[in-house]
Amino acid sequence: LQTVSTESFKASDVVVQTLPVDLQAEKPAWNKLLFGHHVTDHMIKIRWTSNNGWDVPTIVPVQNFSLHPYAKVFHYAQELFEGMKAYRGNDNKIRLFRPDMNMKRMKMSAARLCLPDFDGDELIELIKHLLRIDESWVPPYESNASMYIRPTLMGIEPTLGVSPSNEAILFVVMGPVGPYFSTGQLKPVSLLATTKFVRAWPGGSGDRKLGANYAPTLLAQKEAAASGQQQVLWLHGPDYLLTEVGTMNIFMLSRRTDGTVELATPPLEDGLILPGVTRDSLLALTRSWAEFEVVERTISMAEVDQLINEGRMLEMFGAGTACVVCPIGEIHFKEKVFHIPEPKLAGRLLKDLTDMQYGLTPHPWSVLV
Ligand code: PMP
Repeated sequence: LQTVSTESFKASDVVVQTLPVDLQAEKPAWNKLLFGHHVTDHMIKIRWTSNNGWDVPTIVPVQNFSLHPYAKVFHYAQELFEGMKAYRGNDNKIRLFRPDMNMKRMKMSAARLCLPDFDGDELIELIKHLLRIDESWVPPYESNASMYIRPTLMGIEPTLGVSPSNEAILFVVMGPVGPYFSTGQLKPVSLLATTKFVRAWPGGSGDRKLGANYAPTLLAQKEAAASGQQQVLWLHGPDYLLTEVGTMNIFMLSRRTDGTVELATPPLEDGLILPGVTRDSLLALTRSWAEFEVVERTISMAEVDQLINEGRMLEMFGAGTACVVCPIGEIHFKEKVFHIPEPKLAGRLLKDLTDMQYGLTPHPWSVLV
């Protein structure tokens, strides 16, 4: 009989093993950062078994895993991850942006895969500790770059049965990343609205951040690139409901028939949408302005067509940690190309949010490391 320990690891129990300074890697040039190509010297690694619960957390030099070929993660994709950033302000202080939201989502992903639960606040404390150890890797304020943090949890039990894993590893790796728009200028992207591939469906897992959701999107992205578009617009159902764009949530600013302006994004309830931290932040921010209506509702391709034809489409953009906001310039759908007007709101949203992230505007969402 197995007893599953529900007790979390504690950040205060951490065992730290640092890499001797002479073995530490050379820092990359801050203006030549390639996303996902750089890793700092240390990582968080925590083992879990169903018999004994969580081991003490460790911070160790970045290292390879040695896993049995039967490890469940290799066969049934029992893996989930998070994407979050730390920013160095012009006061030289390092801040995380709403890390509690990432932890909340990570725990929901873990529950979806029958992987173990943990205390999100404890993992935030460990991530802060890791950031302090690898502090010199966090790019300077002037570079407009940031530190991308990748918490990950995977089931590694070495048995082939399709069943919950009795062994797991939680790890956190991170590396510096450049600004999404290197020129500082918001460049609108063109989208292929695919009717061939579907990213998420009711009852599926598209609303959780599972590795298994991403591998099947590569072919769709490849086809978009082959036809000259930068990203995929993910649709769902007979009405071609807009769900997400690439790995971003989607927003649409339009004028209603009564002349009022509305910012809309698809709702979270139906399981088609990843609950983005940026999405939530933009909703809260624009609602606090009270300058226009902010609604969570479905948007169909027919509506996009109609809004454009009637001159009521104002702007569309994607929203995510990587770019904050990414304006949409055109949408290729079946035989048609929809042209979206120049972004106006996106620039203001980008500035307001990045000012919070870099600590220029003090805000409770910005958490000091
Ligand atoms: N949708 C998908 C499918 C994503 O992968 C991401 C990136 N995590 C987002 C939306 C945006 O989420 P966030 O704002 O938390 O980065």
